Amino acid sequence: METAPWTARGADGPHLVGSRCTACGAVSFPPDRERCRDPHCPGGDLVEAALPRRGRIWSFTDCRYPPPPPYVPPTDPFEPFVLLAVEVDGPGPIVLGQAPPGTALSSLRIGGRAELVEGTAAGPDGGSHPVWHWRPVPDGDGGDR
Ligand SMILES: [Zn+2]
Repeated sequence: METAPWTARGADGPHLVGSRCTACGAVSFPPDRERCRDPHCPGGDLVEAALPRRGRIWSFTDCRYPPPPPYVPPTDPFEPFVLLAVEVDGPGPIVLGQAPPGTALSSLRIGGRAELVEGTAAGPDGGSHPVWHWRPVPDGDGGDR
């Protein structure tokens, strides 16, 4: 399976690939390429950083109407989907992503755990493209490690 942009597959599964500043340690996603985004940083080298695969749900909502193009609804008629903002462990950056199809909004809570998984999305070219999803981790399923 092809990986989504800014992701890689490690021995423990897919993870996001961000950047880490060698001067201040700031971790960014999407990765910084030109300079550290911390305005107080004296500036360091930016190195590739594999982000932890899990994080804490910072916020969430559901999308009840289709986003504008180039988004292509996977179903006709459009079915709402859940969007999560997850603070990657570390603590790392807050990264947006859809929950896997079928995720119930009522199953989520702020502060709950989520794990990065691979999914697919329809593209304007008619193809199927790899994306990442944030899958909620049920309480008591090792999500608090
Ligand atoms: Zn920095």
